[in-house]
Amino acid sequence: MTMRCSRVSAAVVMLGVGLAGLAHAAPAVVLEGARLIDGTGRPARDNAALVIEGDKITAVGTAGKLPRPKGARVVDVHGRTIMPGLISAHSHVGLVAGTANRADAYTREAVQSAVVQYEQYGVTSVVTLGLNRDLVFELRDQQRAGAAPGASIFTAGRGIGAPGGVPPQPVAPDQVYRPATAELARAAVRDMAGHHVDLVKLWLDDGFGKFTKMPPEVYHAVIDESHKHGLRVAAHVFYLADAKALVAAGVDVLAHSVRDLPVDDELIHALKAHGVFYIPTLNVDESFFLLAEQPEVMKDEFFTHAVSPELLQMFQSQAFRDKVAANPSVPKEKAAFAVAQKNLKALLDAGVHVAFGTDSGALPERIPGWGEHHELELMVRAGLSPMDAIVAATQGSAALLKATDRGTLEVGKRADFLVLAADPTADIRNTRQLISVWHGGREIAPRVPAHAP
Ligand SMILES: [Zn+2]
Repeated sequence: MTMRCSRVSAAVVMLGVGLAGLAHAAPAVVLEGARLIDGTGRPARDNAALVIEGDKITAVGTAGKLPRPKGARVVDVHGRTIMPGLISAHSHVGLVAGTANRADAYTREAVQSAVVQYEQYGVTSVVTLGLNRDLVFELRDQQRAGAAPGASIFTAGRGIGAPGGVPPQPVAPDQVYRPATAELARAAVRDMAGHHVDLVKLWLDDGFGKFTKMPPEVYHAVIDESHKHGLRVAAHVFYLADAKALVAAGVDVLAHSVRDLPVDDELIHALKAHGVFYIPTLNVDESFFLLAEQPEVMKDEFFTHAVSPELLQMFQSQAFRDKVAANPSVPKEKAAFAVAQKNLKALLDAGVHVAFGTDSGALPERIPGWGEHHELELMVRAGLSPMDAIVAATQGSAALLKATDRGTLEVGKRADFLVLAADPTADIRNTRQLISVWHGGREIAPRVPAHAP
């Protein structure tokens, strides 16, 4: 088995070298005339010029002043806005098939089609934060060798849940570890370290009191063993007290909002002292009622092209609305959503590192691609400026990943960016006005192109 895998990988690597060689031989591209949002938080720059050679940005300047490399292809983007590609630091793939979560949904085809969908929606990098089968590592390797399409995959592999507890999704046994003891938890981390996961994921929650939480000795062991292997840990969290306990135990990323209580000075101080990243995933709680209560969000094709016809039909059915109306958790989710919005604003104002994620792909209601644009809108509704939301979704997530090659549009970074028909700093919903998506210097047609002049 090992031998066969390594031979396949070798073939993929050789193919990748061939593709990479071709990419570098391609002429330079210069995009001239757009407003440029570079992802650093600096004000947008007008009439910019961006030079791309191979998969990298090699110069940034002013159109008309920045010299064009000899033989460069010139793309006129006057009237457009360019911003970095979105980076979801919390998503999932291969968990939903048809209209439901299914334990047999995680196939190579499902993962490939999910990452292609993300890319076509302008999400150029995606973290599949747990519940992955090991084939994700093979797909990640193929991509890194230049031999597979779609959003760049970063992954937490299977992740570590609690026996009989969270995560509650139906998945195959080879998609999550549920260690009962600290020793088994350490073994799970060692197994994932062997696969070079980009992050380790753990779940600490009781699903509104329905489940037993992971005991402290288990999450302490996960964090300690991960750090021994140079890996950082992202935790699913809900409660303020758990967030404090995790940060005290050394967790590196809170992968959801604190949603039971307002964040306090003690947590803010600890998050800043430890340099912990916070991924708000505001749409998570909203997703339990949004589509049933605001069906108008499903009207435009930016939404409808992100879901299958059967899923759309289910969301638009009376049975779906009735099910949501009868769900006793919905009032709790609404309260949690309101707390999450307030906490995001408080933490950003306090200077905590905010990154970006959606939990898209975890449930049928969390829509890959569409969900990321919706999340940006929710962050702005929570009180962030559009620029704050964009920085979290680009530079913020890249910093979380320590992916120093992406996240901003500066010399030496990957050419991962979006060309938009309108300026998202004027209205965050303009991130949906996609003219083109550029990923590693390759131009990709958006799934739903902007109806632009
Ligand atoms: Zn998740």
